[in-house]
Amino acid sequence: MSTHWGAVVPPVFVTAGFDETGAPPSEGSFTYSRYGNPTVDRLERALAELEGAEAGAAFSSGMGAIHAVLAALLGKGAAVVVSDHVYPPTEVLVRRLERGGWLTARFVDPDDVDAVRVALQGARLLWLEAPSNPGLHVPAAPMLAQVAHDAGALVALDATIATPVHWQPLRHGADLVVHSLTKYVSGSGDVLGGAVLGPAALVAEVRAVAAGTMGNVLGALDAFLLARGLESMPVRVRAQSVAAARLAGWLTERLGGQRVWYPSHPDGGRDGSVRPFGGMVLFRADDPDRFERRLGDSTVLRRAPSFGDSRSLVSCLRPDRFPPASRAALQRRCGTLPGLIRLSVGLEEEAALERELARLLDRQ
Ligand code: PLP
Repeated sequence: MSTHWGAVVPPVFVTAGFDETGAPPSEGSFTYSRYGNPTVDRLERALAELEGAEAGAAFSSGMGAIHAVLAALLGKGAAVVVSDHVYPPTEVLVRRLERGGWLTARFVDPDDVDAVRVALQGARLLWLEAPSNPGLHVPAAPMLAQVAHDAGALVALDATIATPVHWQPLRHGADLVVHSLTKYVSGSGDVLGGAVLGPAALVAEVRAVAAGTMGNVLGALDAFLLARGLESMPVRVRAQSVAAARLAGWLTERLGGQRVWYPSHPDGGRDGSVRPFGGMVLFRADDPDRFERRLGDSTVLRRAPSFGDSRSLVSCLRPDRFPPASRAALQRRCGTLPGLIRLSVGLEEEAALERELARLLDRQ
């Protein structure tokens, strides 16, 4: 720290390489930023601490982190069992890798434990997502992890929507947890990033293959922005989740129970009330065309594909663009698909959000 003049904010190490004159590089020292960088390392350590993980590795985006795990842990033709509730681009990636002979994919309904058990025979990996995007489905992860371990498979869980603020999957049987940092960790929607957290040896393997040889790396400036976001993430996520749970209740009163979905916390509710579990709500508007038209001139709600920002974002889902397994899973959960709206609750005044949603949903 003496070389940093006591700077309260650590310096950002914008460098590809590190001087190797003098002492030879020792274990843990930095040589070249594709293998490790002090600014990225600071972010990885902070994330690992929040997840209760031994180690973490950051990648260029959430999809970069997902690809890192699949590329590092699956050999030619190895089987991966994938929850059909996954983020649709994850399904697209798995299918593409399968076409290239990288892996064999088995998509399953994670609520059908017998089907999961059968699919896991001879598999190397079970891939789960909790809560899922966009269906906000939460699988029984601890039980499924036990089934996977009994079959000799590892469990990777994408917990982007949960964030470590609400739930740490490594404490509930997952071997690796994956995040898109683009969402709640950034909170500003101005940077892409992803991370994989877990036991040091597994994370080292993922890092060596995906970053070291494939070049899937997070830059130091992006890592700086993400570390800055991470400092306020717990406060933001708690506030957004409390507001989202309340808005889900308000929408249910207005639209009826079969039209609003909010994820159930894996550890159950308190006193029968909805336990805040993330800042996202899914609902069905009666008249999606009118909703979309009015959304076009909203000054409160922004229509955009991402989520987790401090500003509220709305996405009008286009299920016709979904790949087959995630489309079927969303249909099982929500019935007919047209008219589904995903709301990512920001940090605006709740009353203002409620007023605006009332205007967009008004039948007049
Ligand atoms: N995982 C989930 C659950 C997501 O919702 C997303 C993006 O929306 C990703 C992964 C991919 O993240 P990124 O956009 O940072 O690649």
